[in-house]
Amino acid sequence: SSCLHVDDKTEVREYFNTEGFNRWNKIYSESDEVNTVQLDIRTGHGQTIQKILNWISDDGNISGKSVCDCGCGVGSLAIPLAQMGAKISASDISDSMADEASRRAEELGIKDAKFYTSDLESVTGTYDTVTCVDVAIHYPSDQMAEMVGHLCSLSSDRVIFSFAPKTWYYSALKKFGELFPGPSKTTRAYLHEEQVVRDALTKAGFQVAREEMTGTNFYFSRLLEAKRI
Ligand code: SAM
Repeated sequence: SSCLHVDDKTEVREYFNTEGFNRWNKIYSESDEVNTVQLDIRTGHGQTIQKILNWISDDGNISGKSVCDCGCGVGSLAIPLAQMGAKISASDISDSMADEASRRAEELGIKDAKFYTSDLESVTGTYDTVTCVDVAIHYPSDQMAEMVGHLCSLSSDRVIFSFAPKTWYYSALKKFGELFPGPSKTTRAYLHEEQVVRDALTKAGFQVAREEMTGTNFYFSRLLEAKRI
């Protein structure tokens, strides 16, 4: 229901402005104050980011292109893309996350990048590439298709999207509480049926061009690149 939606969002925003910020800012850095689970998540997430950067550098044409990164976190993807010459517009529902991304970018002397606070649904504009990495875990299944549709509406060329896939194996792990040892304590975590994501992409006029799967012990992420037909 829409009530659940609001509660989820408020909870997610509060979490990523407080303890979630501290936790994820550490994971998404080189800090050595992480435990083994956090280190495993850092490794898995780093692999997803690297796969995206490899796709984009294989294409060799990101310089001067606009990229909209929704749920940018501390800028783990947006910052290297800015360094490759992309014009970045990145946002996050959490002020703390968006501010940290902005601070990191400034520290690296990045100029062509804008970081701001926004809920994904409120992002507007048209961009060559729209990215949304590891954000869908915070979306209930019934809001998934609409969310993917909104991302597609912002993109003139392609969408790069990742999510935790709902397979029997991951569902079982989640049930036994072995996954999401951190976030699940404060926010709900949602796995998603791949077909729901694919159908939403198709409906929006996009076709999957490249795909990847990344899995470590505590991190798993299905990655799709879809091109506008
Ligand atoms: N995409 C980043 C990356 O891969 O490094 C961050 C991933 S982190 C696991 C999830 C991020 O999604 C958090 O920074 C959180 O604040 C953000 N987020 C969650 N729900 C959101 C929403 N509805 N709109 C925008 N951002 C959201």
